[in-house]
Amino acid sequence: MSNNIVIAIDGYSSCGKSTLAKALARQLHFIYIDSGAMYRAVTLYFLREKINLHDRSAVGQALKNIHLNFNARDYQSHITLNEEEVSDEIRQMPVSDNVSAVAAIKEVRHEMVRQQQRMGRSKNIVMDGRDIGTTVFPDAQLKIFMTADPNVRAERRYKELAAKDPQITLEDVFENIAHRDYQDTTREESPLVRAKDAIILDNTNLSPDEQLQFALDKLNDLLEP
Ligand code: C5P
Repeated sequence: MSNNIVIAIDGYSSCGKSTLAKALARQLHFIYIDSGAMYRAVTLYFLREKINLHDRSAVGQALKNIHLNFNARDYQSHITLNEEEVSDEIRQMPVSDNVSAVAAIKEVRHEMVRQQQRMGRSKNIVMDGRDIGTTVFPDAQLKIFMTADPNVRAERRYKELAAKDPQITLEDVFENIAHRDYQDTTREESPLVRAKDAIILDNTNLSPDEQLQFALDKLNDLLEP
């Protein structure tokens, strides 16, 4: 039996999950895995190949042609789709607008969960997403469920995206976040829900350092009671 430690961070869209996850990974020398990037990369492939989301056999075949890899550099998440670096493209609006529909497809989830479980089988990892503490790693030692005021979330994400895309508006970002939250919480297959044993972290008024300290304190409490 392996004794690796898994930290699962779930929560709503644009709550700062990845900022906290990366900071934890850097501090603890764990591997950071951005599960959302995997759903985004699959979505990019589906968009490029014009896969009909209702055509099960096309979806199944497409999944067989998709090879995802993370290149761990500086605790950031650099993802490749069939050897092409797509880290920037998967953050653009066309992918953001379609990813929750793709992530609701059962076959897509089964394949991503299988790959995520394999990545965390024997290593110390921090993984962020929507179903990490409930489905991917229900036995994770530390589970954090993140939330924040929706207006604050939209403003944070807007600042990030507007630097790269001057066309984008705060309304677009707000709507995208609200729509993804709705789709993620209402889908049939492993919807976004807080695991019973997850600790809630509302970071509306917390700095990244305060969030990191919060998580480190919780981890210490759990590992050295
Ligand atoms: O984390 P991020 O916002 O990049 O994730 C993009 C989308 O991928 C989410 O809105 C959600 O639909 C989907 N997702 C998921 N399960 C995960 C991670 C992400 O359904 N574990």
